[in-house]
Amino acid sequence: MQDVDLLVRAEFLYPITDGMPVIPGGEIAILKDRIVYAGPEKPAGSWRATRTIDGAGKAVLPGFVNCHCHTASIIFRSQTDDHAAKSALFDVAFRMEKDVGEAEWQLLGEVGCADMLRAGITTINDIWYSPQHLAETVERSGLRAQIANKVFDVHLEELRLGDYTRYPAQGEKRLRDGVAFVEQWHGAAGGRISARIGTHATDTCSPELLREARAEATRLGVGMHIHAAQSLGETEHILAAHGCGPLEYLRDVGMLAEDVVLAHLSVTTDADLDAVRDSGARYAHCPTIYPRRGRYPRLEDILARQIATGFATDWMMNDPFEGMRNALNAMRLRTGDPNALSCEQALWFHTMGAARVLALDSEIGSLEPGKKADLIMVDLDRPHLQPYYGGYSALVYYAKSSDVVTSIIDGEVVLADGRPTRLDQAGALAAMAGRVANWRGKLGALGSKAVFGPGCPCCG
Ligand SMILES: [Zn+2]
Repeated sequence: MQDVDLLVRAEFLYPITDGMPVIPGGEIAILKDRIVYAGPEKPAGSWRATRTIDGAGKAVLPGFVNCHCHTASIIFRSQTDDHAAKSALFDVAFRMEKDVGEAEWQLLGEVGCADMLRAGITTINDIWYSPQHLAETVERSGLRAQIANKVFDVHLEELRLGDYTRYPAQGEKRLRDGVAFVEQWHGAAGGRISARIGTHATDTCSPELLREARAEATRLGVGMHIHAAQSLGETEHILAAHGCGPLEYLRDVGMLAEDVVLAHLSVTTDADLDAVRDSGARYAHCPTIYPRRGRYPRLEDILARQIATGFATDWMMNDPFEGMRNALNAMRLRTGDPNALSCEQALWFHTMGAARVLALDSEIGSLEPGKKADLIMVDLDRPHLQPYYGGYSALVYYAKSSDVVTSIIDGEVVLADGRPTRLDQAGALAAMAGRVANWRGKLGALGSKAVFGPGCPCCG
């Protein structure tokens, strides 16, 4: 009989290990923050567990890894989903975000962290404003996170005018703040929090700033995080300014390396993708935002080059199940092949694949002895999931993030009955409710078409 702290049973266990088995009647034994056993249920009397969580009617899988996100960006929910190309994103979001205060970002991050947890996300990779506030909330919430300060040397609010004037002092200040954040938070919260240097995008940082940021990341021994080939506008700007694609450009300024997370790769040439492959840089693929913007990355060409790829939510929407389904739908429509992406692959990309993108695959992403105990339980006893036959299609096509009832990170229950155990979700939502009228007014003043809607569809 072996002493363990926590024993989690599963009607169906999805360990996301080699061969992608599904184990009916499985269990996971946890000692402190690590898994000591994950497999078929052992005979009675094998464990003396301080606590046992019953697995009847539950699927158990690794927590989702979200390898590119902006937790506090939920302020823009419904505001940049439509009219995004040159209006909502540039006219509304970029002009609004510069006037959002620290306390507001803190509150948004708190609700965002609660949303990540209740969606079954156990690890995030965030690049945004006020990283210290997010780090404090992450520490409190029990989430695992990599966090970066958003570094850029343009005025984002001027991009709508095509104005790419550089403000070197602003870039330097943001980079110094990012370095100070790394020095304070890398390895904090018992190792749950690590830090990156977060250069915002290929076109919003000058080559000088990118080079300096690269040097600082290397000096500090941390990775980097950047949006790359996100839009046609960015790609056209880089082509006009530097005569090449955005990934060739990042290679030429010396930034690409294995420790770089590249979000999007939506508008790329073969030469761009070859540059990524040759560098070993890693790719965060965000399946929910791309269809909304009308352009899906060449995922089949990215995977053919064996570029390390993981799934992510990007901003505003945090449902990994929706993301996996969007990827399946998009790839099948793109290629005309009904087997273009499998449910096993989709779930792998949101767990092991994303962990690999963050260089955390030796610690998280699958349920194996020696790994961190980061796992979630999905309640199968729901009409939209029954009859549940096991397998990957049952989970990936039919489950919703609201079916996640329990999350465990570092061996600790951080979500129980679908609610964060360490965050005051009700208090944060009440505080947010008190801000909505103010935000609605600001968004409306910036011309948001989504505040009150465009009017009657037939008479305008
Ligand atoms: Zn993003």
